[in-house]
Amino acid sequence: MTVDIPAKFQGFGVHDKEHWSEPKFVEYTPKKVLPHDVVLKNICNGLCGTDIHTLKANWSPLKRDDLVVGHEIIGTVIAVGDEVTQVKVGDRVGIGACASSCRSCTRCQEENEQYCHKSVSTYNSIDHFADNYVTQGGYASHSIANEQFVFPIPDGLDSVSAAPLMCAGLTVYSPIVRNLKKIGKKEPVVGIIGLGGLGHLAVQFASALGAKVTVFSRSNAKKDEAFQLGGHEFIATGVEKDWTTKYQDNFDFILNCASGIDGLNLNDYLSVLKVDGRFVSVGLPPVKDTFEVTPFSFLKNAGSFGSSLLGSKAEALEMLQLAADKGIKPWVEEIPISEKAVNEALNRCDQGDVRYRFVFTDYDKAFTN
Ligand code: NDP
Ligand code: ZN
Ligand code: ZN
Repeated sequence: MTVDIPAKFQGFGVHDKEHWSEPKFVEYTPKKVLPHDVVLKNICNGLCGTDIHTLKANWSPLKRDDLVVGHEIIGTVIAVGDEVTQVKVGDRVGIGACASSCRSCTRCQEENEQYCHKSVSTYNSIDHFADNYVTQGGYASHSIANEQFVFPIPDGLDSVSAAPLMCAGLTVYSPIVRNLKKIGKKEPVVGIIGLGGLGHLAVQFASALGAKVTVFSRSNAKKDEAFQLGGHEFIATGVEKDWTTKYQDNFDFILNCASGIDGLNLNDYLSVLKVDGRFVSVGLPPVKDTFEVTPFSFLKNAGSFGSSLLGSKAEALEMLQLAADKGIKPWVEEIPISEKAVNEALNRCDQGDVRYRFVFTDYDKAFTN
């Protein structure tokens, strides 16, 4: 252990789901620092769609009455546990949506630590390794995570651009590289559904990796931007009702990045896959919403339907280097963090009014510890 860790961390916390977008300034006791933990003084943090689902209790109840969300965290390491080897005090690093895991099971040992059965999410998760502490996210002065979930940021990437890569970037990069590798084509045809925080990075990464990218969005509002991001074709699904006819036998891989399933007919997407094509969903609706699908939609193309959660540390490091080398950056609206700013950003993101990621900044002005 090196630098003093404040006895209390400061953040913007939500009391209950009825007031999901009205955070208040809170102070709370941090979780205890374990031998493999890294303590960050935070610099900035991106707003992910999952923050909204969590605060609205769309997936599970809020586990604290001062819940601080945020899992696109960039900060400076101020202290490390006695057994940390992967980072050191003074490093600029990031934390995504997972903060800890057992590190000994097969999944942890085979670079699938995000799928560990004992993994701990960065916020609103019970940390069985730390006295069942309920974890707190990055709308806060400081953060603590196991070193396996702490990613060094290359010098070529500024902190605000790096923040959305911690969750949104990694979540799309992992299924894109895993699936394109299996598909093994030089110029695969890829579809990206939902041009939000995840989707706009998926378009950039898929196109940087050589894919021909079609963007599916509900309206034409984001058409020009889809092309600027590297998209080659654009389909406004709410307008072009007969798009499935035109795109028969077209896609090797479709990645769903939408945060809801209104108007998302899975049968349509499965029907336009090439033989052995794959549809993978990273977008997650409220837990009560389900996909409806008939096997006949993809009977004639041997298509597969899959899912994907975050990405591994190995993939995070690879993605960050690719982003630094190729100049891949999220489109960001910066907001100095405060109660009012978090309130505005949560509401605007919920209404789809952001191009394409909010990043909270100016942490040194909002927090005094
Ligand atoms: P955003 O709010 O930034 O973007 C969501 C996009 O989804 C919108 O821009 C919109 O695109 C599209 N959309 C489709 N249907 C709806 C709907 N009913 N309501 C609102 N938007 C809709 O969210 P994020 O990109 O941050 O997150 C996307 C999803 O991914 C969320 O469900 C989030 O929880 C999930 N997620 C999953 C992870 C995983 O590991 N699997 C990790 C991180 C996030 P358009 O206007 O183009 O139609
Ligand atoms: Zn996220
Ligand atoms: Zn494990």
